[in-house]
Amino acid sequence: MATATVLRTESPDRWKYLNNILTRSGPYSDEVFVPGDGPKEFLAGTKILVIGAGGLGCEILKNLALSGFKDIHVIDMDTIDISNLNRQFLFREADVGKSKAEVAAAFVMKRVRGVNITPFNCAIQDKDDDYYRQFKIVVCGLDSVEARRWISSTLVDLVDPEDPESVIPLIDGGTEGFKGQARVMIPTFSCCYECTLDMLTPRAAVPLCTLASIPRQPAHCIEWASVIQWPKEKGDLKMDTDDPEHISWLYTQALARAKEFNIPGVTYAMTQGVVKNIIPAIASTNAIIAASCCNEALKLATTAAPYLDNYMMYTGDESIYTYTFQHEKKPECPVCGNLPQKLEINPELTLEELMEKLQERPETTLRKPSLRAGGKTLYFQSPPQLEEQTRPNLKKKVKELMGDGDELTVSDPGMPFVLRFVLSFT
Ligand SMILES: [Zn+2]
Repeated sequence: MATATVLRTESPDRWKYLNNILTRSGPYSDEVFVPGDGPKEFLAGTKILVIGAGGLGCEILKNLALSGFKDIHVIDMDTIDISNLNRQFLFREADVGKSKAEVAAAFVMKRVRGVNITPFNCAIQDKDDDYYRQFKIVVCGLDSVEARRWISSTLVDLVDPEDPESVIPLIDGGTEGFKGQARVMIPTFSCCYECTLDMLTPRAAVPLCTLASIPRQPAHCIEWASVIQWPKEKGDLKMDTDDPEHISWLYTQALARAKEFNIPGVTYAMTQGVVKNIIPAIASTNAIIAASCCNEALKLATTAAPYLDNYMMYTGDESIYTYTFQHEKKPECPVCGNLPQKLEINPELTLEELMEKLQERPETTLRKPSLRAGGKTLYFQSPPQLEEQTRPNLKKKVKELMGDGDELTVSDPGMPFVLRFVLSFT
């Protein structure tokens, strides 16, 4: 009878293949590489943080543990859902509802001898600078742009130009269906996440008028149900996209709308997909991207080979294609650059319209922006007294509040940094 074998003792053969890379130099070794005793010497002291314990995170934790990393932390605020089980292989049905970080850590520690994984079931924003300072490398397996922006800018902020140890490389993996990317960011030396925001394909926003008058696609009918019908019929009731009754209601509404306009294809699953903005996840794409991220972690930790410089994209949806390029730093990056960005603006717009324009820009996924210009507070969202005091400015014209060439600063609770713009009146 076959039973799962657990490595109980540290056999001399355990790191045989990794030792081929770590105990001698080769033609591809990084020029600073000094051969050593194997993974113990290189990795025992390398404290590494994994952010995300989902599709990518499960793979990343497994790979790092099997590559010889001994001291791993993992942060994930999510709990396990039944739909995760087809690819998040560290979880079982009995784990549904439990913390992803805790279950994943326990599973890998049980399976791989000698690794210590410390889980945190919280948001990354709950941890302070001192917490992040203890790591040599951070690896992200996230599906959230906001979390990536936060950790990227936090690591840029931690850099002390006098102290090389304060530079913590960030490895970021991401997948969408058959596509993915792996990248290495060396804070302040290479581009940061914010420098590359314009590569994101913005979620195609359907104009409200299309939703309201002439839907053309099944998704338009679903958006109509959630954006227009829900508030109209349900008033203040908050939509819960995890509540099957809410999804059923939206589905019925969308289906009726689709019938009216002769649009086929609205299903319950599609309704759920559209309102939850679900990105399709494929186990093997996650495995490819996670493996690539972990090889970069191994190379950074050991210098056994030059690391990725700095962006690898993998495209598997039209046959297969990979491409690696060096994304450049942006001098006007709000996080790692030192120049404000130019903002062309019609001075006849009201402040409120300016705020709407800002919200459309890729780098400003703003929710509650506060604005200052020329040393004056133009609009602040909080505290309430200040909001009330500055609210009349929203109806004023830009030219009444600021001048051509003034610097405008925009802050938002969703952004850990301030955006700086130089106004250029059109
Ligand atoms: Zn940057």
